[in-house]
Amino acid sequence: MNHLSDNLSHVQARIAAACQASARAVDGVHLLAVSKTFGADDVLKVAACGQRDFGENYIQEGVQKITKLAAQTHTPALVWHCIGPIQSNKTKLVAEHFDWVHTVDRLKIAQRLNDQRPAHLQPLQVCIQVNIDGGDTKSGVTPADVLALALDISELPRLSLRGLMTIPDPVEGFTAQVALHNKSRALFDEVKRALNLPQFDTLSMGMTGDLEAAIHAGSTMVRVGTAIFGGRTYTA
Ligand SMILES: *Cc1c(COP(=O)(O)O)cnc(C)c1O
Repeated sequence: MNHLSDNLSHVQARIAAACQASARAVDGVHLLAVSKTFGADDVLKVAACGQRDFGENYIQEGVQKITKLAAQTHTPALVWHCIGPIQSNKTKLVAEHFDWVHTVDRLKIAQRLNDQRPAHLQPLQVCIQVNIDGGDTKSGVTPADVLALALDISELPRLSLRGLMTIPDPVEGFTAQVALHNKSRALFDEVKRALNLPQFDTLSMGMTGDLEAAIHAGSTMVRVGTAIFGGRTYTA
C-alpha cells in the first residue's frame, strides 16, 4: 500500500475516535478529502481505498481534474464538492461539473447556479457559507442573514439546500475550538427548525487541525486535506 492509504486510514481512525468520544454514530460524519493542489493520480489512489467525496477550492483546477478522471475508464464514480470562493463568471463551470457547492453566500450566485445547472444532472447540492467568527476579510453571509438567504435558495428548483458550512479562523486548543463550532451548530439547529426542509442535514465544518472539536460540536462533514494528501505548495 502507499502513504496515502495510511494517511486516509489514520484520518478515518481520528473520526471514529472523535465520534466515540462524543457518543455519536460514526456514520453520522462524512469525510470530504480535499485534493486541491494535488494531481488526478493522487485522487485515484485515495479513491482506490474507497474514498468517494473530494473537495476542490480552485474551480479551474478542479474542473480539469474532474474531466481528466471522468475520461479514464477505471475511475469509480466520484462526488465532487466545490469549497472555494465563486465569482459570477465561474458559476457555469461549477454548475456543469460539481455535485456539491459549500460556498454559496449570496442569492445572485445561487440564482446563476440554478439557471446554469444542466437538466440531465441531479439538482446541485448546496451549503450556505457562514462567516461565523465575524472576520471582515472573509467570505460568508453573517449569521443574522442566513435564514433569509436559505429561504430564497430553497425556492430554486435546480438547487437542493443541504446545510451550512463554516471556516473559522484557527484557534488554539480543543475548548476554544469547540466553543466556536458550537456557535455554528446552534445556528444550524435554528435555521433547520425554521426551514423545515427534510434534506437540510449537513453541517460542513472541521479540517485537519480541528476535526475532533468540530465533530464534538455536531459536524456532519469534515473537510480534510493536509492529513490525507500532505502539505501543500502553492505555485500561484
Ligand atoms: C484547504 C481547505 C480545507 C482543508 O484544509 P486542511 O487544513 O488541509 O485539512 C478545508 N476546507 C476548505 C474550505 C479549504 O480551503
